[in-house]
Amino acid sequence: MGMKSDIELIKDGKRLDGRGVNDLRPITIKAGVLERADGSCYVEWGGNKVLAAVYGPQECLPKHIASPHRAVLTYRYNMAPFSVEDRKRPGPDRRSIEISKISKEALERVVLLEKFPNTMIKVFVEILQADAGTRCAALTAASVALADAGIPMRDLVTACAAGKIGGEIVLDLGKKEDNFGEADVPVAILPHTKEIVLMQMDGQLTPEEYRKALDLSIDGCTKVYELQKKALRERYVEGVD
Ligand code: ADP
Repeated sequence: MGMKSDIELIKDGKRLDGRGVNDLRPITIKAGVLERADGSCYVEWGGNKVLAAVYGPQECLPKHIASPHRAVLTYRYNMAPFSVEDRKRPGPDRRSIEISKISKEALERVVLLEKFPNTMIKVFVEILQADAGTRCAALTAASVALADAGIPMRDLVTACAAGKIGGEIVLDLGKKEDNFGEADVPVAILPHTKEIVLMQMDGQLTPEEYRKALDLSIDGCTKVYELQKKALRERYVEGVD
């Protein structure tokens, strides 16, 4: 974010990949792609390829983290070594620990944890290919995987970023836009109530720009939500398997 560059990120309202300012990248979502997990989801979002797997509710291990009042939810965001241009050093780092923490907190707002005391629900997200916006793609996949596992939730969690490039507020930054743009604002909402369950900001925006970016990312989430529902319908109503 904010690196100096001669690249013109936006010209006559068109972005590097031909998108307009309010356009998402192409997104496909498929629920129930893994045999061994209780729930799963695969998302392609522009150049991002993300796989989410859910286990549980199951016995809570280690036992000392169990709660008699609610299920414990864990979330692991992990980037594969081959997911980025230069090999990513395997294992957790500051960034993935932070993303895992805030994504877990977002999901805790929807999963009916109090129905499953003394258990745990584990969410794993593997970033197979990263192209900016992976935390949003990951959370979007994770909530479909939770639904696919049949875990009761108040709502899905839907995520999408907006940001600022070449002085304009745009939806869903791609990799170059993320590298050379001015700001990136990932947002996750509950689509029914529009409650915000995750919001971050990298870079700087004026209050007016921020408001615009927030509104735009919520519009983006609304579109992503339709694709989440479609994926679940294809799996359960139309009976793909
Ligand atoms: P997000 O993927 O949620 O937008 P960031 O803004 O932190 O998260 O990262 C933007 C992009 O930068 C990632 O999608 C990925 O393509 C790249 N990236 C992130 N971490 C690394 C890393 N350790 N090595 C190489 N590229 C990375």
